[in-house]
Amino acid sequence: MYTVSDFRKTTRVVSVRGLTIGGGPVSIQSMTNVPIEDAAATINQIERLRVAGAQLVRVALRNEYSLEYLKIVRAAVDMPLSADVHFNHRIAIGAIEAGIDKVRINPGNIGDDAKVREVVHAAKERGVPIRIGVNGGSIDRVKYPVLDAESLVASAMDHVRILEHNDFFDIVVSIKASDVRLTVEANRLFAATAPYPLHVGLTEAGYGLSCVVYSSAAIGALLLDGIGDTIRVSMTGDPVEEVVVAKKILEAAGLRTAPVRIIACPTCGRTDPSLDLLSLAQEVEREIEGRFGKSLELSGRGIVVAVMGCEVNGPGEAAHADAGIAGGRGGAMLLFSRGKKPRRITSGEAVRALADEVERIVQEGSE
Ligand code: SF4
Repeated sequence: MYTVSDFRKTTRVVSVRGLTIGGGPVSIQSMTNVPIEDAAATINQIERLRVAGAQLVRVALRNEYSLEYLKIVRAAVDMPLSADVHFNHRIAIGAIEAGIDKVRINPGNIGDDAKVREVVHAAKERGVPIRIGVNGGSIDRVKYPVLDAESLVASAMDHVRILEHNDFFDIVVSIKASDVRLTVEANRLFAATAPYPLHVGLTEAGYGLSCVVYSSAAIGALLLDGIGDTIRVSMTGDPVEEVVVAKKILEAAGLRTAPVRIIACPTCGRTDPSLDLLSLAQEVEREIEGRFGKSLELSGRGIVVAVMGCEVNGPGEAAHADAGIAGGRGGAMLLFSRGKKPRRITSGEAVRALADEVERIVQEGSE
């Protein structure tokens, strides 16, 4: 395996119900997309998000009436929750009193200084951090007629200074746009400007493949710069998918261990025509994930398994894999494993033989 340096940017650290944001591992966030007034659906969705790997879940509070439902959700959920509040300081204070762990509200939008002081007082009293969220679409275009990285950061700093003047520093900031370059440049600039942890993501990122690619480009670029302390992939649809993608982004950036990583070659003219490598790789993934995925994830370990199109180049190209198979001629395959002599098998035996080899490696690793 490769060695990477510790390149995380140092920021202040805030604690959200025991979850540290800043100065440590990058956490995964998501947001419910059902009204909190349907408390049962909200609780169910939060639980699905938790099981999928979300570490902090945000809920939108639309009015003071929502607070009664927040109390029900809070009583049922023992994981970090964040409240999304716009403008109304009474909702923010009510959420804090109801046991929310973090509030997303922009102090510059609250109204007057006295209201800000009330929110800050409540947040301080309960140790609740505040997230300032600046979006390209909601920036004050009278004050900032040009939408660029400088104006997004200046807008975020307007809100930051209000909290700082109130002697409040448990701040997380997000600066998002739907444009990848603008999001990356604005976050880079903010990271060079202020010491607060950053929640990074792309806003209005869409759905499906397009959302995955655009979000990965933006979030990935920042993470590889050492910027970003918590991430959210904003995706239209089931928010559980956001968490699945976020985990993959962290894995790709080397910030999370993939319990099972299947690598496969693209195939080429050397691949025997009888070999359907895509189907074989998917079958291998199902088998290895099913047998070892959960236990590897719980132990924080990972295994790399290769499915390659030919035995001429496959084992060499996948030399960093723990184990793998490579296609030969007419249904023959080669099973290879680090430190062991390759063994010839048939394609019919391939999945089972590879899984057994992985089992041996997993058992050896836990001894
Ligand atoms: S491993 Fe073999 S089949 Fe696959 S791309 Fe490389 S040369 Fe082609």
